[in-house]
Amino acid sequence: MSMVKLTIDGCEVEVQPGSTVIQAVRAMGADVPHYCWHPGLSVSGNCRICLVEVEGMPTVQISCNLGVRDGMVVHTQSAKARAARKDVMELLLINHPLDCPICDQAGECKLQEYSFEFGSDGSRFAFPKVHKQKHVRFSEKVTFDAERCILCTRCVRFLDEVAGADELDIVNRGDRNEIAVARGGELESPYQMNVIDVCPVGALTSTDFRFKSRVWFLKQTRSVCPGCSRGCNVTVGARWNRLLRLVPAENAAVNRWWMCDDGRFTYKAVAAGERLGAPLVRRGGALEETTWDEALAAAVDGLRKCGVDLVGVISARLTNEEIHLAASVLDEVGARARGHVSRTCAQDDLLRTGDGNPNAAGAALMGVPAGVPSLDGAKGAFLCGDDLDGDAAALAALDGLEFVLYAGTHETATMRRAHVVLPGVTSFEKDGSFTNVDGRVQRVQSVVAAPGDALPDWK
Ligand code: SF4
Ligand code: SF4
Repeated sequence: MSMVKLTIDGCEVEVQPGSTVIQAVRAMGADVPHYCWHPGLSVSGNCRICLVEVEGMPTVQISCNLGVRDGMVVHTQSAKARAARKDVMELLLINHPLDCPICDQAGECKLQEYSFEFGSDGSRFAFPKVHKQKHVRFSEKVTFDAERCILCTRCVRFLDEVAGADELDIVNRGDRNEIAVARGGELESPYQMNVIDVCPVGALTSTDFRFKSRVWFLKQTRSVCPGCSRGCNVTVGARWNRLLRLVPAENAAVNRWWMCDDGRFTYKAVAAGERLGAPLVRRGGALEETTWDEALAAAVDGLRKCGVDLVGVISARLTNEEIHLAASVLDEVGARARGHVSRTCAQDDLLRTGDGNPNAAGAALMGVPAGVPSLDGAKGAFLCGDDLDGDAAALAALDGLEFVLYAGTHETATMRRAHVVLPGVTSFEKDGSFTNVDGRVQRVQSVVAAPGDALPDWK
């Protein structure tokens, strides 16, 4: 089918037939202000802020619902288009509270941004504002502020169209219109926190992140969620060397604009429990802190003594680079068997794969299959990034080994059975790559510094 040619702000553009004007504008690298339109949702056309002027049409048009046609001449920045958007802004702000100084959305709020760009510098609305409910619990994860809502329905459409959970709706009439959880319950979808991201204003906020930090103070780093083998792309927000939130980063080939709620909370494991911050060696039955040099010397000595009677457990939560190096160590001593601890997680048709290891595909490609090899008849074990706490029999078998080398991040029952402990770091504290369930190699980036003397396993 031949392409449609049109002119936008003086530039000739060619787009696929069936495109809308807002898509054509974005295809040329520009944008039109929008609240209710989202590239991953159906067109609603209710917010009216995406107005543009089209030659030959008597009034301004919403670009999100206007199809392109050959020869069309569009002006997104004309005085008429800008004046129309200014009027829409005035209408949207009539009842909007002046919450910006305490609103979590400040700094990434479309209402603020467009208001700054072409809003009025005053209000002609002389009547008291309509007040609505504030900090309403939609679930333990999502908090709603009805006054801030501009009724764009993105949240309703996300749950309905993407998550397949018809859990939000609009209730009441006129200026009493409000978003409400259907049937008076709470949100239950395992993808419900995406409504926080799609909300263009501060009406839906993350209960976990609320009031923790202004967003402009966050160090934002693009990385990959370690929650399952999908490898959703994320932007990790950190401050004071603390992880504060994970939000999805757009990747059309992996997760589009979304991620699951479980994935958002993977950052909590980093600061949970007792982190290992120093190498340890067993002396007289007890683990004692030591230097890296001493610990490595003891590790090399122990591995050499085990030789072919060594079993390797190399985690599929490690990066490709680390798995490769750990497998090389096993090759070096001729270790008899290797594998990784299998982890399950929820599975569905949207993103969650059921495999709780982020790098199972990478491990398999480098000859580290799923499953812990038998420790029967072994002299020693090299546990790199995985522990055996979930397997009572394997854990007990460790007690009978001559040598156990443990490289990991937290104090665990496995770690307490080791002869040498090397403190490692989480995927939020190192650089490397994961291979996702579809074989896509994706970059993992360090966001915060690891505790004490802990080092990435590849080091
Ligand atoms: S809560 Fe946010 S996403 Fe939902 S309708 Fe209101 S403004 Fe739109
Ligand atoms: S689907 Fe998997 S990779 Fe994506 S956010 Fe959830 S746990 Fe993380």
